[in-house]
Amino acid sequence: MGIVKIKDKTFKTSIPEAEILKKVQVVADRINKDFEGKKPVFLAVLNGSFIFAADLMRMITIPSEISFVKYASYEGTSSTGSMKTLMGINQDLAGRHVIIVEDIVDSGFTMAHMIEELKKMNPASVEICSLLVKPGNLKVNLDINYAVMEIPNDFIVGYGLDYDQEGRNLRDIYTIVE
Ligand code: 5GP
Ligand code: MG
Repeated sequence: MGIVKIKDKTFKTSIPEAEILKKVQVVADRINKDFEGKKPVFLAVLNGSFIFAADLMRMITIPSEISFVKYASYEGTSSTGSMKTLMGINQDLAGRHVIIVEDIVDSGFTMAHMIEELKKMNPASVEICSLLVKPGNLKVNLDINYAVMEIPNDFIVGYGLDYDQEGRNLRDIYTIVE
């Protein structure tokens, strides 16, 4: 707990690791129940979701698979609308139950883009599992079935999330201090 400095910005602890893990477990339990007998494919969105995906995946007790995708959409501390696929889906998802694993849904553009791409592959179902959601910033209509936590619009780092590529290794989640 405390204050960290990353480059030109200061951040303070807002969600301790223990609280994060407790809440991830609640969502994992729901997924274990909802997808029993369905062998879901988790699709984790790099880079930000790698810690969340690793923790979530180890709380999943039903048969499942995981794969990774990567898009470029975010520069500095504010979201842009444009989107590039850096690492696409290289797996047959036809008839599969897909669970997208995302670090944070901000404007929702990344998820909207990804769901559009996914639907072309005829999956049996697509759900969003996001560690964090900023409901105040949503600019598209999204059904987020598995949201671990909702937060205000402030910029955060830690638990996989970066500020200019740094801070991903912080165990807790930190909020920017203005
Ligand atoms: P969206 O497309 O929903 O606007 O943006 C989603 C992506 O923006 C997230 O996957 C994440 O990489 C990044 N992002 C949004 N808000 C934050 C934030 O507060 N902190 C960090 N580190 N990344 C964020
Ligand atoms: Mg992300």
